[in-house]
Amino acid sequence: MQYTPLDKVQPQYDVVVIGSGLGGMTCANRLAEAGHTVLLLEHHVQLGGLATWFKRGGHIFDVSLHGFPYGMVKTCKKYWGRAIRDSIIQLQHIVFDNPQFSLTTTFSKDDFIRILQERFGVSQTVVSEFFATVDAMNFYDDQRLTTRELFAQFFPGRSDIHRLLMEPITYANGSTLDEPAITYGIVFSNFMNRGVFTFEGGTDKLIGLMAAELLNKGVDICTGARVERILVEDGVTRGVVVKGREIKATAVISNAGITNTIDNLVGPEQFAADFLGRFSKVQVNNSSCQVYFGIRKGESIGNIGDLLFTSTAAEFSSEEMRRMDTKSRTFSVYYPKTRPQAPPDYTIVASMNADYDDWAKLSPEAYRLAKEAMIERCFDDLERYVPGVRAKVDTIESATPRTFHRYTLHTKGTSFGTKFEGLDISRSLHKQIDGLFHVGSVGIIMSGWLGAINYGVIVANDVDSYLRS
Ligand SMILES: Cc1cc2nc3c(=O)[nH]c(=O)nc-3n(C[C@H](O)[C@H](O)[C@H](O)COP(=O)(O)OP(=O)(O)OC[C@H]3O[C@@H](n4cnc5c(N)ncnc54)[C@H](O)[C@@H]3O)c2cc1C
Repeated sequence: MQYTPLDKVQPQYDVVVIGSGLGGMTCANRLAEAGHTVLLLEHHVQLGGLATWFKRGGHIFDVSLHGFPYGMVKTCKKYWGRAIRDSIIQLQHIVFDNPQFSLTTTFSKDDFIRILQERFGVSQTVVSEFFATVDAMNFYDDQRLTTRELFAQFFPGRSDIHRLLMEPITYANGSTLDEPAITYGIVFSNFMNRGVFTFEGGTDKLIGLMAAELLNKGVDICTGARVERILVEDGVTRGVVVKGREIKATAVISNAGITNTIDNLVGPEQFAADFLGRFSKVQVNNSSCQVYFGIRKGESIGNIGDLLFTSTAAEFSSEEMRRMDTKSRTFSVYYPKTRPQAPPDYTIVASMNADYDDWAKLSPEAYRLAKEAMIERCFDDLERYVPGVRAKVDTIESATPRTFHRYTLHTKGTSFGTKFEGLDISRSLHKQIDGLFHVGSVGIIMSGWLGAINYGVIVANDVDSYLRS
């Protein structure tokens, strides 16, 4: 791909987008289509943000391509075109395996209704009422009811059912039982719509198609371009400073985390006290650890499922899931069908929730040992599904919250931005500083691949109106 070297970019644009996550890229795409001049600046050498991949030992590893809801089909067709939409395919085998139950599901509503009745013995009336309640939840509902209270209402004392309903969502975005039930309900309903989907061809293909689309529309793209500062004068955005160079812009959209944007790129001194008061209540979501296994060419692992939610912990606990020695992990299995265009390859990615502070405080030696211990725990668990797996693996890599922080610059390496309160801060940024907008993971609904793209469309519309006015 032919990106623009920083010294060749124009001195002035209608819009500068800081960061090329799915939210940032979608904003750039929509605004270029609307006829605005757009510069996209990315600190990493590769576009995509957390929607990323890397090559090691002849394998390609996907970092966040584990599953998204069916809504991606409509969203991608409308905002990114047919080629991207046509590569979205369903995952068929979602496996749960823990001391309370083991089952395989398509993760669709029909299948969950069947499982809740046949396997967990819940009456049809209760199941129907539960689904009717979560389906009807929307963004403007009362936020006081927590997910814990919602579950207690329909399935009192049934920690096995709470685990079935909650564990995948906690893996997906770190949410806990004590957050507003609407944030759970909206995400759960999105998945229950039709099941879990993936992108055939891999993250590299998706981001390659998106980058080509941006270049076609005339977006200037610079990688290795970390923005140091957003310029603000008299409450109005003037542009950015990147590697010591000033670039002027009528509007700036930050896809850097909302906390980084306010604390480091703009500076709190530019905001009103009441806004900072609300901002101080924003909680950052947890980060992740991952272990990547590449299977030696010629070896097979059989069909063990596409996504395996596995745990040896007695009961579901979002605290347990963030511990360094957690017994809970998701295995995402990538078969040769993931990249039909490439030579056959099997890779497996173990993902765990994690707290940045646990990993940040370790000395270099303690950090190395902690990573080794994590890899061993993943191997032990994987052995249950792929006997003799140690002998089949030729490449191992691992990532911790420190890794996610290094590549994205996100506060505490957060995988899913902030909790729900961050949305109001993100949406009201332009009311504080004219011409400054934020896009990116704030609250569960605006996170994940689908949430980030949809939020990108919303913010692009705001910026388009601003530029036209
Ligand atoms: C381990 C893991 C697994 C996941 N699995 C899934 C999944 O299965 N399904 C799903 O839907 N979602 C998943 N997600 C979440 C999903 O990947 C993210 O929610 C989404 O990609 C975030 O998009 P974003 O627009 O918020 O930007 P981000 O991806 O967070 O990107 C922000 C970009 O801004 C750049 N940036 C930051 N500061 C600067 C600066 N100063 N100058 C220039 N550039 C800067 C960063 O380098 C980065 O490229 C997962 C995330 C993780 C970490």
